[in-house]
Amino acid sequence: MIVKKDKEEIENYFRDASNFFGSADAVYFPVNAEEIAEVIRDANRNKFHVTVSGARTGLTGGAAPEGGVILSLEKMNKIIQIDRDEKFTIVQPGVFLRDLQNEVERSGLFYPPDPTERDSFLGGNAATNASGAKTFKYGPTRNFVEETKVVLPDGETATLKRGNYTAQNTVLTFPTDSGKEVQIKIPEVYIPRSTKNAAGYYLRKGMDAIDLFIGAEGTLGVITEIKLKLINPPEKILSAVIFFNNTENTLDFIEHARNESYKTRKSKGKNGLDARGLEFFDNGALKFLYESYPAIPTDAKAAVWFEAELNSENEDLITDKWFDTIETFHGDVERSWFAIDKKDREKFKDFRHAVSANVADYISSKGLRKVGTDTAVEDKFFKEYYYYSVKLAQSSGINFIVYGHAGNSHLHLNFLPKDKAEFEQAKLLYKDLCARAVKFNGTVSAEHGIGKIKREYFLMMYGEEAVRKMAKIKKTLDKNLILNTGNIFEERFLRD
Ligand SMILES: Cc1cc2nc3c(=O)[nH]c(=O)nc-3n(C[C@H](O)[C@H](O)[C@H](O)COP(=O)(O)OP(=O)(O)OC[C@H]3O[C@@H](n4cnc5c(N)ncnc54)[C@H](O)[C@@H]3O)c2cc1C
Repeated sequence: MIVKKDKEEIENYFRDASNFFGSADAVYFPVNAEEIAEVIRDANRNKFHVTVSGARTGLTGGAAPEGGVILSLEKMNKIIQIDRDEKFTIVQPGVFLRDLQNEVERSGLFYPPDPTERDSFLGGNAATNASGAKTFKYGPTRNFVEETKVVLPDGETATLKRGNYTAQNTVLTFPTDSGKEVQIKIPEVYIPRSTKNAAGYYLRKGMDAIDLFIGAEGTLGVITEIKLKLINPPEKILSAVIFFNNTENTLDFIEHARNESYKTRKSKGKNGLDARGLEFFDNGALKFLYESYPAIPTDAKAAVWFEAELNSENEDLITDKWFDTIETFHGDVERSWFAIDKKDREKFKDFRHAVSANVADYISSKGLRKVGTDTAVEDKFFKEYYYYSVKLAQSSGINFIVYGHAGNSHLHLNFLPKDKAEFEQAKLLYKDLCARAVKFNGTVSAEHGIGKIKREYFLMMYGEEAVRKMAKIKKTLDKNLILNTGNIFEERFLRD
């Protein structure tokens, strides 16, 4: 196995896209699960930390090491199989999402989870239960993971196939590949009513063992192979960026489109509105894009990017319905952008990605860390939460922008502090926004996870007792606290 120790050579592995920095003594580049297990067994014997590194596009410091060694999974980058008939793919964890999406498309199938950052790894996506614009219709990565192989924190391996090991009420039992039995007590904890949640472990009575590892941010095991469900692609897709000259109308349009989409899905109707993604951009987010996208109307107050799946039978009917809806809510039909072909659709995707990327660049240029919410609330509180957040941010005088996955009532309010003082002030407001999201039956993290920089908000969301119960699961599987320790839990919850 390749091992690198030269500081200059490995420094890049000390941080992720959140700009949270750690340090480590070495980076290991395993090529298979056995090599990973070897490192982990060594870490248990010699008591050093192991941090798993994917593509390091994470936004919470999850892949930033706290001493010890880094396991970079970049050499485990093979798409092992794409089965067109049975509609699945098997991948190693270091495959880029972008590469998988392209390969799957070439094979005539479709993998719906689409976190905005396509230069992330599938292993990272599974470890964070990543989601994206299409999560509004298809759910997060979790919904597509059928089987995983994991190296557990004691060096044992396990193969978890969905449906094979489900909890008997609150007791979850599964075997390792060597036949050892692992037993976990599932605690009862707060379950948000938002349609997304990436904060802490997935815990439900009767749950599937596979779900414990998806979204666990590498704290319970290293994901070494993933089998993902694929589906047939839609025949046609309508994609549009609609500009509005009034925020109220924009939010009403979103609420209407969301409710209609739910109705259509519930009734299994084929001719109703059914957005697969509903993304919001406020005026500040649009301004951020003026330079690269001069066709944005400069008087637009907000915009919505939506996509809907069509077929040759309902194409005209559905397109008309969308136009009627846009007109009802006073969208600027004349100057909005519509795409049917793939090339234009990709441009809209890049448009969405450019906002997140530009924010990251801006923050890096100031040498600061991002202060941006990843909160989601119960749908019925979406507008109230939006106005609360904007009012609070405006009253601070700090520049900010809002954009994100409005279909899931999940927006990113990103402060753009100009200096350290504003950065500190923004952090206080951020805390307030997290608390308010929880009050609105939501979550402090809908998709990025907790990592090392959101532990305080995680604690606020669940409370000490529940966090202790979750930490007990970590301690059951990782007695020596070797693997990705530092993510999700503050040390005090693991030590006592
Ligand atoms: C511009 C931008 C846009 C983004 N948009 C989205 C978005 O729309 N939706 C979204 O969900 N996220 C988004 N993200 C965040 C990020 O892309 C996701 O969290 C992604 O899933 C991380 O994958 P990665 O391979 O980069 O993982 P890393 O950042 O390397 O790691 C993330 C965490 O997972 C652990 N990990 C990685 N691989 C494994 C493994 N094989 N086994 C066990 N643990 C592992 C790491 O230790 C770490 O704790 C965005 C990030 C950026 C920079």
